[in-house]
Formats: sequence, C-alpha cells, structure tokens
Amino acid sequence: MLADDTYRAVHAARPLDVEHGFGKDGQSPPLALDLPGGQVELAGYVDRIDRTVTGELVVIDYKTGRSANYYAFPPEGTDTDAATDLTEQGRRLQLPLYALAARRDFGFAATPLRAYYWFVDEGIALRGGSIDEAAEQRLRDVLDVIASGIRDGAFPARPGDYSAWSRSFANCQWCDFDRVCSQNRGKLWLRVHASPRAQPYAALAEPAPGQP
Ligand code: SF4
Repeated sequence: MLADDTYRAVHAARPLDVEHGFGKDGQSPPLALDLPGGQVELAGYVDRIDRTVTGELVVIDYKTGRSANYYAFPPEGTDTDAATDLTEQGRRLQLPLYALAARRDFGFAATPLRAYYWFVDEGIALRGGSIDEAAEQRLRDVLDVIASGIRDGAFPARPGDYSAWSRSFANCQWCDFDRVCSQNRGKLWLRVHASPRAQPYAALAEPAPGQP
C-alpha cells in the first residue's frame, strides 16, 4: 500500500506486530492498572505496533469512518497542549490504553510512546499524539472515575444528542438495543446528570458550563 510505504519511510518505522492481543486468547496477559479506587484489568487488540529508528513505539488503530468525527484528536504533526485529551472525555480510550499495552509487551518503562487513529479511506490521515506522562495520568484518572462508578452502581447511560436524521442518539446509533431502549433516555440522562451520585461521571463526560 503506497500510503503505508510513505508513512514508514517518513517515520523510519517498521512494524513489530499486528492484531496484538492482550488479555485475549492467551497472547499476553491483561493490562493491570492500579488506580485509587482499586485495580482494573483491561483487554483488547492493538491493530498495529511499530518501532521507529529512535526506539519510539507507535501504536495505530485503523478506522474506516471519517476523521472529522475525531476532531478532539489533533492531526499528526500538530503540537498537543495541556488541553489535549486523548481519551475524549472518557469516550475513546484506545490510544493511551493500547500504547501502555505496547510498552509493557515491547518496550521499557522509559520507552517513548505515540498513538494514532489512522483513517484508511483518507490516505495518510492520522490523529492522536504522544502518550506522555500527562496522557497516561489522564487515562488513569478517567478509568478510575468509570471503574469506581461501575463498582458503586452509578454509571448512567449517556445517549448524547438526538439526531432527527438518524432518528437516534449520537452514542446509541450502533447499539443493538437502540430500538428497544426508552425514547426518554435523553431526558433521563439530564435528570441523572444533576444527581450527586453521578457527579464524577457527569463532570467527566459532560461538564456543566463553567466546570473544567
Ligand atoms: S440504546 Fe440504550 S443501551 Fe444502547 S447505548 Fe443507548 S442508552 Fe445504552
């Protein structure tokens, strides 16, 4: 694939593994993270892991959708800053999560990491960035909110905006239960959003105006 040849030449990268499973089919163990609320074990498949000539590990997650839907992730080559959130408020955890699994299985504690979504229908269109200390800490903070919420029984459904075009909610379009789930789910989320028990998750996923 021409785009891939170009990508590897530009980044001096060579693939180490594809479809790398962790916590799956005995390939490698789950990724265990110790968080303030307790340990979580995570599993997944990493589409591709490269190593560059400088020893950096680069994780790639292929996507067939439009890159415009991933506007929260900076285009490759763009500087990231303190406002960059490579978890998209807890909505998409793959990049930092896969990068940590890649480092455990192919690197050392100090191995530099980068991770990107690659939108294959758009040529060399990558979005993501460095998984540095701040990005790793953000993943840990987000996971702690989500896992603690699940443990405490406070992890409400957040359907997102309703679209008249798709006749569904943004976060429900690919869910098998979309047609049977309550049509009031949007209103229900708004009520739950205000409840103290749901505050940690609500503040993460949909902060009220004025919240950080
Ligand atoms: S349709 Fe219901 S179960 Fe599926 S994602 Fe939406 S709220 Fe959750």
